[in-house]
Amino acid sequence: MTALPVEDARRHDILHALQRMIDAVDPRDVAGTAAAGRAELAEVLASSATASAHRVAAVGHAHIDSAWLWPLRETVRKCARTFSNVLQLMDEDPDFVFACSSAQQFACIQRDYPELFERIRARVREGRFVPVGGMWVESDTNMPGGEAMARQFVAGKRFFLDRFGVEPREVWLPDSFGYSAAMPQLLAAAGSRWFLTQKISWNETNRMPPHSFLWEGIDGTRVFTHFPPVDSYSSDLSAADLARAERQYADKRHAVSSLVPFGWGDGGGGPTREMIAQARSMQSRLRGEAAEVEDVHSHPAEPRIWRLSYTQAF
Ligand SMILES: [Zn+2]
Repeated sequence: MTALPVEDARRHDILHALQRMIDAVDPRDVAGTAAAGRAELAEVLASSATASAHRVAAVGHAHIDSAWLWPLRETVRKCARTFSNVLQLMDEDPDFVFACSSAQQFACIQRDYPELFERIRARVREGRFVPVGGMWVESDTNMPGGEAMARQFVAGKRFFLDRFGVEPREVWLPDSFGYSAAMPQLLAAAGSRWFLTQKISWNETNRMPPHSFLWEGIDGTRVFTHFPPVDSYSSDLSAADLARAERQYADKRHAVSSLVPFGWGDGGGGPTREMIAQARSMQSRLRGEAAEVEDVHSHPAEPRIWRLSYTQAF
């Protein structure tokens, strides 16, 4: 309700339903009256999205910083706990899909937790545990030279092909702090076709105009690029996040969908049972069409072209 504009009729429908729910539930006998309260909410929760609603592909993710505030050995344990949790959630929900980058993190799991690695491999075969990025780690792209960047892809793709028989076709750098204008050329040379980040929204100075566009590099190579308008690589799929994604999406004229990576990030953890329940309850509701699985790489009809080289500094 609070994510909707004050003048939106839907907001008032929800408010009235909440008032009826409060009247129906007796605080001295919640167990005995909760069902009546839920019944008062059922109608507003079941109402579907409008035909023109923004669509999101809600993709599970656990952005794990390989090197940040903890010892490297803890990074490996974070990966093990996070991936175990993801596999458990996959057993419980057949629609849940998880995107996972960084060959190095998979290599650590294979070395230290071989049984876990085999379970991951089985889910990769099903297309539900999805290796993304094709790089050895989620690297910076400004400080390394071209040779080092090329090796990120050569070593990364070789690992994913060898261990999983999968070649990631996108570059997944949600949290890197700079993007060399040579990236489109490097991406194309590595056989990749798409680029994703959201870091450019962490900007105090100006705002990147588009979210889905063709990024043109210094040699003229163009690559389809998406900045999730949710402005997060660790959404909790709250109504506030989904409403923000819809409100901010800058390419409404060209396309109707965006990607929302959800799950605890930075220190790992990933999606929770509550977030998946939230995806279910928001599906085709509250005008969000959340969790409806779309082709995450759907191109805008006439994408705009941007030339950019971007560095963020603290
Ligand atoms: Zn990070």
